[in-house]
Order: sequence, then C-alpha cells, then structure tokens
Amino acid sequence: MDCVFCRIVDGRIPATLVHEGERVIAFQDLSPQAPTHVLVIPKDHHQDVGALAAADPRALAELVAVAAEVARDQADGQYRLVFNTGPSAGQTVMHAHGHVLAGRDLTWPPG
Ligand code: AMP
Ligand code: ZN
Repeated sequence: MDCVFCRIVDGRIPATLVHEGERVIAFQDLSPQAPTHVLVIPKDHHQDVGALAAADPRALAELVAVAAEVARDQADGQYRLVFNTGPSAGQTVMHAHGHVLAGRDLTWPPG
C-alpha cells in the first residue's frame, strides 16, 4: 500500500516534525491554512479517525493530547482540531490525521 503519511512516519519522505511520541507524530502541513497548521497522525496506518478509535483508543488519546500541546506551544492554546472523514468531508489522505488549526480567528461553520 502506498500511503504518503506512512512514508513520512518511515522517513522516506521529508516533513517538518514538531513532535514525536510513542504512538503519534506531528508535522507541519504542506499547505498551511492558519499560522499554526499541524497534522497529528498515528504511526500505524488506520484509514480514518473512527477506525483509529476502534482499533487503538490509546493512540487517539495521545493524538488529542499532542494537539493541545502543539496549540499551547505554537499559539495561545486556543485551536480547532479537525478530522475530515471521507472524501465528501474533504479527506484526501486515507491515513487518520487531525488538523490542528490555531493562531487566527476561525469562522463557524466551516465550509
Ligand atoms: P485532508 O484533506 O483532511 O485529508 O488533509 C490532508 C492534508 O495533508 C492537507 O492539508 C495537505 O496539505 C496535507 N499534506 C499532504 N501531503 C503532505 C505532505 N507530504 N507533507 C505535509 N502535509 C501534507
Ligand atoms: Zn498510512
């Protein structure tokens, strides 16, 4: 299986890592949509956040904790954590990931 985020976990393609934990890594999004735009992903491949929750709840808990840490480190601790799930919700990479968006006012509802 050819998965871009598995390749980042393996170090086969470069990324700007901001955190490496036991079960997750966090890195800068290639196309930032806010002053802070970091992706937090499980090291193991799971298709989306629901699959991750079912298979490895500890990894999901670590992911959420790292997201909060990134928002504290890079911004003022206020952030949005987004899991696009399925193509019609905007998921383009089929490896579970949370977007941490922070550092500017965010509108609601999202588009
Ligand atoms: P989604 O549309 O929710 O699946 O989000 C995928 C995100 O991954 C997008 O925001 C892309 O900018 C980002 N992305 C894709 N490839 C890379 C990469 N090689 N390094 C960093 N971010 C990436
Ligand atoms: Zn993967």
